[in-house]
Order: sequence, then structure tokens, then C-alpha cells
Amino acid sequence: MEPMAMAVLGVAGRMGRMLAGVVRDHPEATLSGATVRPGHGWLGQDVGTALGGPKIGVAVEADAAAVTARASAILDFTSPAVTVAQAEIAAAAGTVHVIGTTGFSDDQQAAIARAAERTAIVQAGNMSLGVNLLTELTRKVAAALDASWDIEIVEMHHGGKVDAPSGTALMLGDAAATGRGGTLAEMAERGRDGLTGRRVAGRIGFASLRGGDVVGEHDVIFAGEGERIVLRHIATDRAIFARGAVRAALWARGKPPGLYTMRDVLGL
Ligand code: NAD
Repeated sequence: MEPMAMAVLGVAGRMGRMLAGVVRDHPEATLSGATVRPGHGWLGQDVGTALGGPKIGVAVEADAAAVTARASAILDFTSPAVTVAQAEIAAAAGTVHVIGTTGFSDDQQAAIARAAERTAIVQAGNMSLGVNLLTELTRKVAAALDASWDIEIVEMHHGGKVDAPSGTALMLGDAAATGRGGTLAEMAERGRDGLTGRRVAGRIGFASLRGGDVVGEHDVIFAGEGERIVLRHIATDRAIFARGAVRAALWARGKPPGLYTMRDVLGL
């Protein structure tokens, strides 16, 4: 099969740079385009040169529609507003849209679900194999334990992260809630501060730490009487997310419209 033409949105970002490198070096993919926000200093430059390497013959652009028209898949780790606009562009063009962006409001998430009626979208708050396995383990452990076990999710990321709790923490919380036969919306306890009162049984608590260059760390803690289970994932290299995104795009090639997750991609 021909290598799949993939475009990277926000190529100057932490994840964008990583994605461009992984796509460029992947035997089943070619980099067909890359965008930056309007006015960015990389506009018009060769992507390879902008990333500090040799030329690769692909120019950095700001026009997402033009880039989408030449691609079979869009790899999007940007911001919620950019991603929601892109979902509409990709749906109109019938292009696979891989969404790694996190921090969507309910309305934004609903807009993505509507776009997925017209094209294949793979969305995951975390694209790594390890975290997706951890999600499955969390669901199973939560299902095996009764509500006398308190569930707390602690995450740490670099200081540049703008949303909290992380998309991954919410994904893990959703798995824990599902394991317990409920929904995260009714069980989540976010942002404790001050005189909070006693912990309410059955809630899933979240805590977010920020600092340094931490790529992403997540603990799911099941705290019982006299014992504690801690499921932990530590990411040390952003390449795990980029490789997952490329794998998702290749998997979604030719798939019918729908909103898919990494669970589908990895066959978990
Ligand atoms: P970042 O701020 O380094 O990168 C975002 C980039 O998007 C910036 O360079 C910004 O200039 C660019 N951008 C803004 N508007 C744009 C536009 N209109 N067109 C093109 N580019 C535009 O952030 P990051 O650390 O790379 O993370 C990006 C997102 O990905 C966040 O939501 C983060 O939580 C998420 N993330 C997800 C995973 C995962 O596995 N799902 C992993 C890591 C990060």
C-alpha cells in the first residue's frame, strides 16, 4: 500500500515537533503538510529546516484547509478551539482526524462527535500503549473492589500544561467510574481546597501537580483499610504519544465515519 499522507497541525509545539519527526521517519507514512498559528516565525520555511535538520521539501503553512486537502490524515495536538475548527474541515474533506488535544468543554466535545458522523476520528487523552493498558487495568480493579476503597488519581506534568486534571487523568477516572458501574460526572471530586469536610465514599478524587519538564506521570490509587494498590504510569519520552498517533491514523485508513479511541486502535 502507498504510504499514508499525514499532516501535522501546530508543528512548532512540543508534540508537533515530535509528530513531524516520527511521520518523516515512518515507513508507512509521508509528511504531506504542517501548520503553525498565523503570524508564526516558521511560516514559509521548510519543515525539516525549521526543526533544525535537513530540508524535506514540505513548507510550513497557516492554511489548515489547504493542508487538509492534500492529506489522508491530520495529526492534531493543538488547543481545543483549533481542534474543533479542524474537525469541521476534516469532516468536510473526509480526512482521518487524529485528536490528541485535551481540555474540551462539553459543547466542544459534542461538536467533535457531530464531525465524527462524517469522517473517522480517533480521539484519546493519551495515545501511549502503556496508558491505554493502565486504563484497562483501572477499569478491572475498580470493578473488583467495592466502594469502601477510595479511588484517587494523581498526575504531574511540566509547567507549560494549560489544562487540569490532565486528559489522561480524566480518561483513567472515566475507566474507574465505568468499572464501578457509574459515570465520572456523578463521581468526580476535583480541586479540594480549604475546609472540605470528610471525603465522601464512592467519589473519585483528582490532584494535579505542575513543574519542571515532566512529560507525564499518573498514579491511580485504590486506598482500602490497611492496604493500598497503586497503578502507575511514567512517560519519559513524548515519542510514545507521537508513535501512537501515527498508528491511530494508519488504523483509521478506510474506516467508516465514527468516533474511535485508542482502545479500538490497540484492540484492547
Ligand atoms: P504546545 O503549546 O507546545 O503546542 C501547541 C501548538 O499549537 C503551539 O505551537 C501553538 O502555536 C499551535 N497552534 C495554536 N494555534 C494554532 C493554529 N491556529 N494553527 C496551527 N497551530 C496552532 O502544547 P503540547 O504540549 O504540544 O500539547 C498540545 C496538546 O496535546 C495539549 O492539549 C496536550 O494536553 C495534548 N497532549 C496530548 C497527548 C496525548 O497522548 N493525547 C500527549 C501530549 C500532549
